[in-house]
Amino acid sequence: MVDKNYRTIDKQIKQPSDDILALFLISILRFNLENDILIRDTPFIDSTIINRKSCFRELFYICNLKYPYLLNHSHILLWHRIATGHMNTKLNNNEQTVPLLLSDSAVLLLRIMLSLPYLITKELYRVIVQVLFNLTYIQALFTIISEMNKTEQEIWSRISTDKTKNTMSEYLRMISSKLFQSNFNSNIDNTKISSLESINALIRERCGNFIKIAALIQHYLYQSITWWIPDHHLHFDHLSKNLINELQLYNNDEPYWFSNDSLLIINNWLDEVLILDKQQSILKIIHAIPVFHSPQFIELPTCYSDLFRSCNHRRCSYCQELIIEPILCLICGIVYSQERTKKQCCDQQTRFNQEHLLLCSGNLNISININSTKTLIQREKRYTYWISLYLDQHGEEDLNLRRGRILYLDKNRLKLLYSAWISSNLDQLINRWSTDPFDF
Ligand SMILES: [Zn+2]
Ligand SMILES: [Zn+2]
Repeated sequence: MVDKNYRTIDKQIKQPSDDILALFLISILRFNLENDILIRDTPFIDSTIINRKSCFRELFYICNLKYPYLLNHSHILLWHRIATGHMNTKLNNNEQTVPLLLSDSAVLLLRIMLSLPYLITKELYRVIVQVLFNLTYIQALFTIISEMNKTEQEIWSRISTDKTKNTMSEYLRMISSKLFQSNFNSNIDNTKISSLESINALIRERCGNFIKIAALIQHYLYQSITWWIPDHHLHFDHLSKNLINELQLYNNDEPYWFSNDSLLIINNWLDEVLILDKQQSILKIIHAIPVFHSPQFIELPTCYSDLFRSCNHRRCSYCQELIIEPILCLICGIVYSQERTKKQCCDQQTRFNQEHLLLCSGNLNISININSTKTLIQREKRYTYWISLYLDQHGEEDLNLRRGRILYLDKNRLKLLYSAWISSNLDQLINRWSTDPFDF
């Protein structure tokens, strides 16, 4: 898979640099982890699809083999910045680095993991996760405080804390004070002051994605997390508390630091950002939490006759001809014409169909052929007809509506198709793809 995709990059960029290859390998792993999280977070998943064996371990092994850097100069400096907070002084002038508080810690985790020999010990993995969790935690707090106005920052900068302890309120005091002095705040005119409880809840929310990614990597590479099962929905707080325990991230209710002087590290991370004179751009970057929503099918009516009525007798929006063979896209809901008859619809419709396949779903489309009731699955130019989502009261299909039975939406088939689609597992459902290209 990596080789195949690498050749795809190769076609577009004649000589992809090592940096591009590294980014590409990280993005493959990241995609798989995010997809897994999405499946775990999505209700209505079919167990036969999700209980398949994951290939993440093998994929990680291949990416690790192909990763172009083995703990080189830049990775050592990166680790140094994360673990000790010391800024890079040995970088060449043309080497630019992203401040750590603006970096994606899940990507940093994968970058460090891939630069190490396969497979580091679980103890070492936990050290890396802990150090990156501390960064994620401070990123969250930095974001929350930068969203405050100047007055609120000033209030928090004066709270009395035990300065000898690494506690959230001490970090809050220190970061507020620094941002207040640097005039780094939002201009919102708001008299409401956050409570420590609400700040803690926001930190948990903003750290959620990193904790899930780190826990999944641990699950695949080191130790199965048997209780975190897809379709068993746990309240977010409960889930994140259990995952934090699983990763052993906290020590006496506060994140554990390997350095004796966490405030110095945080101070250095802040300096990396505050030295930049781009406050508005920084605020935009840090406020956005990457949230991936599960893709959904359109809502289908229970009775096929309702679907048939709503899709039939439609006209082509370009040439106004009656659409003889309507296809309903289950992803965006448009009805388009598939003309395999001699009487072709217009060229604009053909072009639109080809563009729709690409733009609606990135060349993997699922739709219903309204006349036959079958499910049409297209992947680029290949296609196949899968069984119908609508059955009569005896559980039988009525292809091409020959028998005139009343058909009802079958929830189990819909669940199976949806689960295979969002888990990139359609091949498990499909016995054979057509060898002919799809006739638009
Ligand atoms: Zn569509
Ligand atoms: Zn037309």
